[in-house]
Amino acid sequence: MNDTKLKATLTTDCVCESASIDSNGEEVWTTGEDCFGCYDDSVEWLRVLVRTWAKENGLPSETVRIEGTGLGWQKLSGYKVVDISEIENLDLSGEYRIEFTLDGKELTAQRWSHDEPMGGARFTFAFVDDSERD
Ligand SMILES: [Zn+2]
Repeated sequence: MNDTKLKATLTTDCVCESASIDSNGEEVWTTGEDCFGCYDDSVEWLRVLVRTWAKENGLPSETVRIEGTGLGWQKLSGYKVVDISEIENLDLSGEYRIEFTLDGKELTAQRWSHDEPMGGARFTFAFVDDSERD
């Protein structure tokens, strides 16, 4: 029984913490002042999560079908067939946050953005045959 959920979050908001000394000589921690490359770190972790997902499923192929619902302000649905290495590119222009969850063999994601303020966009991922690529 494997009930460990793994999560990876990609966000355009910097989450790096840095310390500085305020006028009273107190140490203050702030987020997003200096970026040490948190986005790249998040992508690295997401790649680990995706590889774990592939392993859990016995590496059936390198091709993944992404199904999305609630996309954008029009709440569209759609799907895309991509290489497994392209899962990390669910991004938009502008600001967003995407949270990936690996629950056993199931990988899902939820996206918050300007047009999806309540985390309206949801994605599921499934391995498909390599011949389904465009
Ligand atoms: Zn940062």
